[in-house]
Amino acid sequence: MNHTPRKRFGQNFLHDQSVIRKIVAAINPHPSDNLVEIGPGRGALTCQLLPLVKSMHAIELDRDLIPLLEATCQPVGELSIHSSDVLRFEFSELYRDGKPLRIVGNLPYNISTPLIFHLLQNAGIIRDMHFMLQKEVVDRMAATPGNGAYGRLSVMVQRYCRVERVLTIGPGAFNPPPKVDSSVVRLTPWESIPVMINDEERFQEVVRAAFSQRRKTLRNSLRSLVASEQFEAVGIDPVRRAETLSLEEFAKLSNTASNGDQGESR
Ligand code: SAM
Repeated sequence: MNHTPRKRFGQNFLHDQSVIRKIVAAINPHPSDNLVEIGPGRGALTCQLLPLVKSMHAIELDRDLIPLLEATCQPVGELSIHSSDVLRFEFSELYRDGKPLRIVGNLPYNISTPLIFHLLQNAGIIRDMHFMLQKEVVDRMAATPGNGAYGRLSVMVQRYCRVERVLTIGPGAFNPPPKVDSSVVRLTPWESIPVMINDEERFQEVVRAAFSQRRKTLRNSLRSLVASEQFEAVGIDPVRRAETLSLEEFAKLSNTASNGDQGESR
């Protein structure tokens, strides 16, 4: 069966067997796992994972790939294929018998950030996630305060998950090769919440506003959300910039902002 890779679906198929083996080893699948693959494509990872778990789910948008995937994978295990857009997929449907999901995938890079945000909303039913992403996106996820890559993605991901880079891979492992290096990241939702956040919406609003003008001081970027006395109350200097604030400090700021109704009226 012939299939030409489609750019609009972010199709860069893995063909390097040693890379595939390393990813499977990092996932370390067990027969009792509730495994879900996003974007199985032609089954490069699926065909190696399936014999180890016996049955798993796969979510694929490109309908033309499905007969190919069935032909390659059905002989090695029970694959439930969900022909749908993962951004609209209800992950809670796969959470059965109290078994948290293990989600894996060589993700389509064009939708990786919205997809990560969609998955974070489901962190409570996820045991872990292993994703191939653009290296630069993994740099941002793993960055700590003071690092140039530290931003909204770092804060939002680290609020829900532990972030570990597993390996970095050059373009030659894929067909067609992407223009950038890639990394595999392991995201493990925290068992207990690392910071207390009183108002989720306000937290997101504060983080977004702070990084939307990252060169500005917090006093300026958060002018409409946090008043001078609120900075003082939580002991955060308003002349600092967003990129210096830890997750805990963002939580403190948003908690104080959610106590008062608005910031300065100046
Ligand atoms: N897992 C395969 C591999 O490693 O060779 C394919 C990886 S390829 C980078 C991304 C896969 O995600 C493609 O199969 C593509 O069709 C699929 N895909 C793209 N957008 C998607 C979406 N919104 N929902 C589900 N799958 C999608």
